[in-house]
Amino acid sequence: MLKKLFFNWKMNPASPSEASSLFTEFISLAQFQPQISLVVLPPYVYLSELNQQLQTSGVTNLKLGAQDLARYSAGAYTGQISGQMLKNMGCQYVLIGHSETREAYQLSHEQINQKLLQSLESGLVPILCVGHQSDKTITEINYPELSEQVTTALQNLPTEWQTEFYLAYEPVWAIGTGKTATNPIIEEVGQFLKQELAKLGLAKQVGILYGGSVDDVSIQELVKLQQIDGFLIGGASLKPEKFKTIAQVVANQV
Ligand code: PEP
Repeated sequence: MLKKLFFNWKMNPASPSEASSLFTEFISLAQFQPQISLVVLPPYVYLSELNQQLQTSGVTNLKLGAQDLARYSAGAYTGQISGQMLKNMGCQYVLIGHSETREAYQLSHEQINQKLLQSLESGLVPILCVGHQSDKTITEINYPELSEQVTTALQNLPTEWQTEFYLAYEPVWAIGTGKTATNPIIEEVGQFLKQELAKLGLAKQVGILYGGSVDDVSIQELVKLQQIDGFLIGGASLKPEKFKTIAQVVANQV
């Protein structure tokens, strides 16, 4: 199966017109590469307009998601955005526990779990991000930390829950640095994460993603990964020539 691509715009771009122009590039990419599944994760404020653009385009292989959601369903939580609001805005996916969000809000593993449960309750497909926070280099993989991130985030799931779900392995030192983890390390971690998911009875429905400086150059090697079902892309999401090359390389994958 072709690898699925998720594009995290982070806190970009600055205006609705720039967001709309950038999204137009994703629509034309989706039309040009109908066999590739694309998910764009823009800032909340652009979701409504981009959803209208998406509906008008008629493309079916491009979806929208959000970069975070509240731990609660509704109520007196100033500044928060609920899963239901996102769903009603046309979102199908939501990022949970991106390392930048974990750090900015000092989120605990239990709080990540609450967000995950909210995403399921709202009918959003979660993309749970995990990555070793403490390690500084590729050779030191903190498996106990990865295990704790996964098992605590995935506790108390509804037993009947069988739907799609993604786990994104993002080593913190690789995000936005131009450095990627090597393929053997990513395969090793991918295998480890699948084993952790199997212990929780979740191995079947979960796709494993890699994120961390995926761009038009690094994708040439990363596309060869066997244990990985897709990529989470940050910086290169803002550069049409880069994300179009990434999609082209993935489309050519054998
Ligand atoms: C990300 O934001 O999840 C990410 C991986 O960013 P970048 O591609 O810029 O490293």
